[in-house]
Amino acid sequence: MMALDNALHGNFIQIFHTLAKKSQDVFWIKDAHFDGYHYISPAFEHLWGVSCKALLQDPQLWYGCIKSEDLPLLREKAILFRAGAIPDEGETLHYQVLNPMGSGFQLMEETISPVFDENRQLIGYAGVTKVISGSEKPGVELNQATHFFRLFAQKMRAVFWVRDETCGEQIYLSPGYEKIWQRSRRHLYENPDSWISTIHPEDREAVSAKTRLHVLGEHGLDVQYEDRYRIIVPDGSVRWIKDTSFPIQDEVENFIGFAGIAEDITKEVEYEKELHAAKERAEIANRIKSDFLAMVSHELRTPLNAILGMSQILQARQIAPEFRESIDVIREAGSNLLALVSDILDFARLEAGKLHFVNESFNLLDVFQRTVAAMQYLAKEKGLTLNLFMELSLEGRVMGDANRVRQVLTNLITNAIKFTDKGEIGVYLKAGALCEEKASFDVVVKDTGIGIPEDKLEFIFDKFSQVDSIYQRKHGGMGLGLAITKELVSVMHGSIDVSSELGKGSQFHFTLSLPLQTEKEQQDTAWRDAMLQSMMRSQFNLRVLLVEDNRLNQRIARMILEDFGCRIDILNNGEEVMEKLNELSSYDLIFMDVGLPDMSGFEITARLRKESSLQSVPIVAMTAHVLESDQAQAFAAGMDRVVAKPIGYDEIRSVLEWVTGHD
Ligand code: ADP
Repeated sequence: MMALDNALHGNFIQIFHTLAKKSQDVFWIKDAHFDGYHYISPAFEHLWGVSCKALLQDPQLWYGCIKSEDLPLLREKAILFRAGAIPDEGETLHYQVLNPMGSGFQLMEETISPVFDENRQLIGYAGVTKVISGSEKPGVELNQATHFFRLFAQKMRAVFWVRDETCGEQIYLSPGYEKIWQRSRRHLYENPDSWISTIHPEDREAVSAKTRLHVLGEHGLDVQYEDRYRIIVPDGSVRWIKDTSFPIQDEVENFIGFAGIAEDITKEVEYEKELHAAKERAEIANRIKSDFLAMVSHELRTPLNAILGMSQILQARQIAPEFRESIDVIREAGSNLLALVSDILDFARLEAGKLHFVNESFNLLDVFQRTVAAMQYLAKEKGLTLNLFMELSLEGRVMGDANRVRQVLTNLITNAIKFTDKGEIGVYLKAGALCEEKASFDVVVKDTGIGIPEDKLEFIFDKFSQVDSIYQRKHGGMGLGLAITKELVSVMHGSIDVSSELGKGSQFHFTLSLPLQTEKEQQDTAWRDAMLQSMMRSQFNLRVLLVEDNRLNQRIARMILEDFGCRIDILNNGEEVMEKLNELSSYDLIFMDVGLPDMSGFEITARLRKESSLQSVPIVAMTAHVLESDQAQAFAAGMDRVVAKPIGYDEIRSVLEWVTGHD
């Protein structure tokens, strides 16, 4: 007996430890000051959801999960125990602890006994704490799963939460809540509605409305539902929360409440915002650049108008041969400059999505013949042959923008000539699939020029791309031509590609498919063509008023109009127009510059239209700004037509024809 006693006594610590480890109750030993723990059994982790190690380091953690209404009594007792005021037989306390597994609070019974040494000196306190209500007795498997879940919930920054079917009771809330919301969980268990007060006032109403719908089952039982809202944490800063929730059911599929995961997505939202702002800034910068380019090219076109118009007039006159050559040079240089400026303008408009396309009937073969014919002189100058091969089955009229088709073709032929020193350039127009409503065709522009290195082929259609570097270049250009060409083809729903062999030549190929003109449209066009033909031969005997402040433009317009047999008067600004108001009804036509120094042409026109005698005089706007918005403004002011500068013989003839047809 004695031997057994000794053995037991020798292993007492070991036996106690084994018991404590197996027990669902918590055994603990505290120091004589009722302050630090000497020992705490593992059941503590299960009941408190806090690790034993953490408690040994910070004994205050013990209070962390206790229902607030029980805290004053426990604190009071602790003060008494610290002072040694405890009966020898110990004391039994009752309090409630947050169930870390989520069923609200559990009622605990704690028996505390003072421990004395042989000399009746108080050396510490021992206690047993056990659950007396609200505890589930989980099976081993469930227990393990629960344990893992708890570890998981503790480690995750996201908040796991469970509420009952009314959303009014907080059944479970993981520790992540304290990190993100910076508030104690206890607060929310005791007052579940306080969650709404943590939400940013601007989001509060929307979140509560959605929660109500959720509770009413509006989102259905199978639906996962995501909400984003802002919360304000105690230090006043704002955090973005993504809360994903779904209805939950018990084993027999009864709806029992809601579960969810709330994540702090502040960083992601800020990043998204920054990205969005950066994108907007880039778009604004791009728009400013495009507007600037468009504006600069408009401004360049005005003096160019004067240069080209003047040289055109001189060419039409009988002048000494030695001057003729100089004028040809001026004209050619002016035309080249105009082509460059037009490229920049087109490019800027393409970038801004503002390039205008018309839909008119035209003869495809005609456009090809004329374009190639117009470029023959360029090819001849370099001693090249330029040939056109067309399939005549494409005879007939199609609908589309003839000028844009011409622009594509001109760009490709210009390049072919530019990059070929000897040999020939062939333009092939072949019919593709033909259906009842559409004509598809393939165009190949083939040269025997310098070719393009293979590694450059894929970039050749990018803007500002050129094979030679800027320092080694023999050929002029801005590297915009092919970028514009590609864009034009793609806006017309076609495609373009290139193949090339270095030193041998290149081959650009594009396809387009344009609607065929109906018979009715064909008759109208034929009639109009016949009318135009007959008018072109006639001279116009009209009285024309020109309102224009630029002296050069005045002279050009006067000369061209006089060549067409018109009599012309000029006024310089709005004030002069107003002075002559009573005499204006005698004119057959008024050309009105829109950018006058004192009043805009739109404003002057609007005033003229108020006079009953001037309501039917044709007024034609002249503008370097041929944007659609300007046209709309011109028509709104009462103008009849808009012509774009630079103004030459063709533009003026077309207006005069229109006026005479109009009469
Ligand atoms: P650029 O106005 O500089 O000619 P493009 O966009 O029209 O601009 O052409 C870009 C570059 O593609 C040219 O600078 C040239 O290097 C190359 N390229 C275009 N067409 C040809 C061609 N037919 N043969 C050889 N190289 C060409």
